[in-house]
Amino acid sequence: MTYESPVLKSLKNTTPTENTYKGLVPLKENTFPKQCLSCHKQYTDLANFIANTEAVDKRASGLFDPGPKVSIPSVHLYRNCACGSTLMVICKDRRDKSEPGRKKRYLMESELITKIESILDLEINKKVEKITAQFRK
Ligand SMILES: [Zn+2]
Repeated sequence: MTYESPVLKSLKNTTPTENTYKGLVPLKENTFPKQCLSCHKQYTDLANFIANTEAVDKRASGLFDPGPKVSIPSVHLYRNCACGSTLMVICKDRRDKSEPGRKKRYLMESELITKIESILDLEINKKVEKITAQFRK
């Protein structure tokens, strides 16, 4: 078994909830019906796509921020078809671009940083304790 840092684990642990896909709208109107190129299964709309596909990783939402390099702000949704092929749907960016929305995001990011820092402190303390204990022997 490979060791996984608690920090990484907590960051990756974004198990989807019922709100994860709420408000998602395909970027292009002609995205659906979407067909899997491997097995030709058809998905009628986004809700149908989410309901009839599986998460690529059970611990993750499958949502991916392509970053600022794309011309239109968007979010990519990755899901696995029943045949195992990974399918992607580009959706509109759900982020609230207003000033209150930006402030809210900033606060959430600061909270996340604080959380990561405290986990890192805890890990460092544990390691220091281990090393100190070895010297006491
Ligand atoms: Zn398929």
